[in-house]
Amino acid sequence: MLRLNSRFTRPPRILLVEDNDNDRYLTERAFAAVGCNLHLDCVEDGDECLRYLRKEREYSAALSPDLVLLDIGLPDLDGWSVLARLREISDVPVLMLTAAVRDEDKVRGLRAGADDYLPKPFELDELLARLRALLRRAKPEAEADEAVSGELLQVADLQQDPAGFEAYRTCSVSSL
Ligand code: CA
Repeated sequence: MLRLNSRFTRPPRILLVEDNDNDRYLTERAFAAVGCNLHLDCVEDGDECLRYLRKEREYSAALSPDLVLLDIGLPDLDGWSVLARLREISDVPVLMLTAAVRDEDKVRGLRAGADDYLPKPFELDELLARLRALLRRAKPEAEADEAVSGELLQVADLQQDPAGFEAYRTCSVSSL
């Protein structure tokens, strides 16, 4: 089992914001293929991402994502708009996923509060390296509240929601 960050005593929670079913599926399977020790939630658009972040704040810090993987090409609200609104409510590390990274996009993103970029399609090794780097800097704020500790080897498909907020599809991330 691959641990992404030894500072976390629980699997890091990662929120993937991706409208493309295939990209979402491939990312989910890629994590599973290397047996990543993480909890991955997936949402399909910016509104859903912002709702997710607002609700976890309202109900429980333990449900806060430790990192957001944010696709730039999203319907309705694009990734830039989502990032701007997200920064009003959260300082969670954000890794932007983009089809083409131009220098002006990098500057724009850094000004808007992005922490890193990854051009699509990406190699899993590079994604993992960037996740590790960002998580190393992340503060595991929710750890004190988290009952889960030690090695969690498998994350179930369904997310139990103790605060009673709407069920988000939890991607299956487990060792093959
Ligand atoms: Ca997209």
